[in-house]
Amino acid sequence: MDDKLMLMIPGPTPVPEQALLALAKHPMGHRSGEFSKIMAEVTQNLKWLHQTQNDVLILTASGTGAMEAGIINFLSPGDRVLVASNGKFGERWAEVSLAYGLNVDEVKAEWGKALDPDQIGEKLQADTEKQIKAVIVTHSETSTGVLNDLEAINRHVKAHGEALIMVDTVTSLGAVSVPVDEWGLDVVASGSQKGYMIPPGLGFVAVSPKAWEAYKTAKLPRYYLDLGKYRKDAAKNTTPFTPPVNMFFALQATLGMMQKEGLDNIFARHRRLMLATRAAVKALGLPLFAPDEAASPAITAVAPAQVDAEKVRSVLKKRFDIAMAGGQDHLKGKIFRIGHLGFVSDRDILAAISALEVALRELGCDTFTPGAGVAAAASVFVGS
Ligand SMILES: *Cc1c(COP(=O)(O)O)cnc(C)c1O
Repeated sequence: MDDKLMLMIPGPTPVPEQALLALAKHPMGHRSGEFSKIMAEVTQNLKWLHQTQNDVLILTASGTGAMEAGIINFLSPGDRVLVASNGKFGERWAEVSLAYGLNVDEVKAEWGKALDPDQIGEKLQADTEKQIKAVIVTHSETSTGVLNDLEAINRHVKAHGEALIMVDTVTSLGAVSVPVDEWGLDVVASGSQKGYMIPPGLGFVAVSPKAWEAYKTAKLPRYYLDLGKYRKDAAKNTTPFTPPVNMFFALQATLGMMQKEGLDNIFARHRRLMLATRAAVKALGLPLFAPDEAASPAITAVAPAQVDAEKVRSVLKKRFDIAMAGGQDHLKGKIFRIGHLGFVSDRDILAAISALEVALRELGCDTFTPGAGVAAAASVFVGS
């Protein structure tokens, strides 16, 4: 059957009908009063989502563009940065930093393990000359399904005093609490096709007053991604360049939905989806790639021992039109990843786990009795 694709990848995520209908509207002029009204509303609601009074700027870019903007606006060539890396995205932020001539120091953890905040703390403590200008961290490492302990890492950065903390929250924002003001996060980047429940195309960067201080003397080249331009225009509820106006309509719709649901309910739902998925995978006798204590509420990576992960994905796609994500780089064929971020309900997990059971059986996997995964997921949902 056509046109029944179920997206269970960590982005693009499923899009609710309200947002799809908003995308189908006629575009409007981005210099019109009507558009400014929408811009004012979504900016307000973005601050709510980020739990901040800081500027939250909207870019026409994917998450990488938002993160690149976050890195390049506040630093100068040769500045020392500490990149914490335990997966594909951590590696990417080191690559971006190198591309701009920054002096990159890395703290690493094995893919599938959480970063050790104390290791980052030691590096920062050793920097008595305060040479480190920024610490760059991925909160939810999508390539492995690991949620890093941002609060603990941030405490070390605050103790250092000089360095800015720049965070990739692309798959944590809208899934788990990211209290930007309470923690004092300086640069917080995300992208529309993840927790925002709209298609790819918009990037978001929240910027602290401390980062704006650094902006004044930062010398890396910037033009399209010059955040000062976006800030100046945002004060007048407009953008420096033509934005994808229909994406703003869609964003207006989904931020409204999020406000109705409430932050605590959104976080509780993602936690429940994560717990149900993990319980099901365990009941199916399949190893989880990330440990319980560092599990991302957005994505669960599974490392099946008996079967090729790519074959599982292929059967799920062909038989059920369910898209799950594969492993990246050396993890290709070793893991598959179940996305449960954004517009995902308990029902979606039950459907995905049932289909997964059929796919595993078809591939000769005999590590479970039929129904065990669904029962385990259901038991998380009962009474919650
Ligand atoms: C999706 C994602 C990004 C952004 O990727 P784009 O393809 O540029 O949108 C960045 N970081 C993480 C952790 C992600 O999951």
